[in-house]
Amino acid sequence: MTEVDYVVVGLGALGSGAAWQLATRGYSVVGLEQFDLGHGRGASHDTSRILRHSYHTTTYVRLTEEAYDDWARLEAESGEGLVTVVGGLDLFPPDCAISPVDYVDSLRAVEITFEELDATEIRRRWPVFHPPPGTLGLYQERGAIVPAARGTAAMQRLATAAGATLLGSTPVTGVSDHGSHLVVEAGGTSYTCRGVVVAADAWTNQVLAGLGLEIPLTVTLEQPTYFAPPDPTPYRDIPLWIWMDEPSYYGFPCYGEPTVKAAQDCGGPTVDPDQRTSEPDAEMRDRLAAFMGSLLPGTGPVVRSLRCQYTLTPDRDFVMAPVPGHPSVVVGLGSAHGFKFAPTFGRILADLVTTGETTSDVSGFGFDRPGLTDPAYQANWMV
Ligand SMILES: Cc1cc2nc3c(=O)[nH]c(=O)nc-3n(C[C@H](O)[C@H](O)[C@H](O)COP(=O)(O)OP(=O)(O)OC[C@H]3O[C@@H](n4cnc5c(N)ncnc54)[C@H](O)[C@@H]3O)c2cc1C
Repeated sequence: MTEVDYVVVGLGALGSGAAWQLATRGYSVVGLEQFDLGHGRGASHDTSRILRHSYHTTTYVRLTEEAYDDWARLEAESGEGLVTVVGGLDLFPPDCAISPVDYVDSLRAVEITFEELDATEIRRRWPVFHPPPGTLGLYQERGAIVPAARGTAAMQRLATAAGATLLGSTPVTGVSDHGSHLVVEAGGTSYTCRGVVVAADAWTNQVLAGLGLEIPLTVTLEQPTYFAPPDPTPYRDIPLWIWMDEPSYYGFPCYGEPTVKAAQDCGGPTVDPDQRTSEPDAEMRDRLAAFMGSLLPGTGPVVRSLRCQYTLTPDRDFVMAPVPGHPSVVVGLGSAHGFKFAPTFGRILADLVTTGETTSDVSGFGFDRPGLTDPAYQANWMV
């Protein structure tokens, strides 16, 4: 039996953020990870993730303002440059599945500066893009890249430096609520604590099973792919981009290497995270390559692909809330767009587990919303 203030289950980006925040506030913290720290079987590995203001609701746009601040704080405390501003371009082709109206209205309401560009202007600024006539581009100059594995490792380092114990290869096999305290079972040790942060993403329901909660989650196996342009020069200065249609794609300028990374959003098969392959899929690669040939011809051959998990709620909204009936167990889940908010998740989850409150607006991220409670809810991931 080991006594600590708080246990964090799962040390991907979100759990590492929570461990950092809790330890920095002076609590004793144990973080438990089933695989090795920095592994590639979850969602927080590899090179780059998008950080952007553009979102479909004012709640998310406001939260992105906090995300930029929280990344700045992480940079200051770690002494590492983590945010690379490259500009962000949301591309809405004619009759697209994702309406630009919600994006434009939300950005305006929060007074975020952005530009509306037509296809000709997009080509004039960045000639490598070939958007079809009628495409609307929303350009946001603060669009940025944040490093996935490196950012996660930075939060782990800060957590450890502040006194947290982070253990890899230590799967949590039980979480039980005893009213006055909680017990977390892992690796032959029982951790007694006053609160638990569950940041287990694809494995969330397994961790919560002992508390009688199950939420509708879909895990898909996605595939980022790197292309090597024969001449990478023009790809160093393009913005990151998102193709706002069904299928949806996104990509990056060169980042740390003379390649460009791109992927389909929600393009992979549904999988069991314990049974899935790590091998690249040729059909997914070819579909992406065909799309790149139309939007960014010249990105060259594929040099590598890798797999990464999406864990999706039916409404694609986050979970940032205590488990109903167990106020000392707090869940964080990023619904496959959470990395940009990882330091923000860390701060909010630490607020919620220590005080039950936070100054951020998390009112839409509880367990009591239709997307998690209504069995007839129609999943919509294209937001
Ligand atoms: C290809 C891809 C591209 C993405 N692009 C973006 C982007 O551009 N911008 C953005 O904001 N987001 C993006 N995301 C989403 C973002 O990366 C994820 O939302 C985020 O990384 C999730 O972090 P996490 O810590 O919740 O999950 P994970 O990194 O999966 O961490 C959960 C951890 O919990 C551990 N765990 C589970 N069960 C147990 C247990 N019983 N005991 C101990 N440990 C356990 C797991 O092993 C795992 O390490 C992308 C995701 C993918 C896959």
